[in-house]
Amino acid sequence: MRAPILVPTVLRNLVRKPATNLFPKTEPVPVPENFRGQLKYNVDKCVGCRMCVTVCPAGVFVYLPDIRKVALWTGRCVYCAQCVDVCPTGALQMSDEFLLASYDNYDEKFIPLKEEKIEEIRKKLEEQKKAKEKAKAEKAKTEKKGSK
Ligand code: SF4
Ligand code: SF4
Repeated sequence: MRAPILVPTVLRNLVRKPATNLFPKTEPVPVPENFRGQLKYNVDKCVGCRMCVTVCPAGVFVYLPDIRKVALWTGRCVYCAQCVDVCPTGALQMSDEFLLASYDNYDEKFIPLKEEKIEEIRKKLEEQKKAKEKAKAEKAKTEKKGSK
């Protein structure tokens, strides 16, 4: 009974351009402002306060006490941005990236802090510790000489 009412609409739409985005042949639909895409971690800004570890509902973070940084596996992330809101230094930011499909759960794009960088930080801290101890020992030696 309702078919005749629809006929003009159908005919009108038959001659109109499709309203479909042909991605991946074209660019995807642009993301809005403040879009919550893949999480980015700037390890140099991190002060190891562990606030992100506390608030994350998905268990993305693991605290690394020896270097006072956090390791992340964003494959678990639910994009809630609570860690971004709580981070006092801006070390965590949501990006516009959302094309994240992968065959590998442990693809390196899901692991922002790489093993090599962790090693580099460890070495740097070790060197700083040694330099501090050396300076301390030298200071003690000079003071001992001065008191004689
Ligand atoms: S965005 Fe949410 S789920 Fe993802 S790492 Fe941050 S707190 Fe965890
Ligand atoms: S909240 Fe920010 S500064 Fe604190 S441990 Fe996490 S990333 Fe580092």
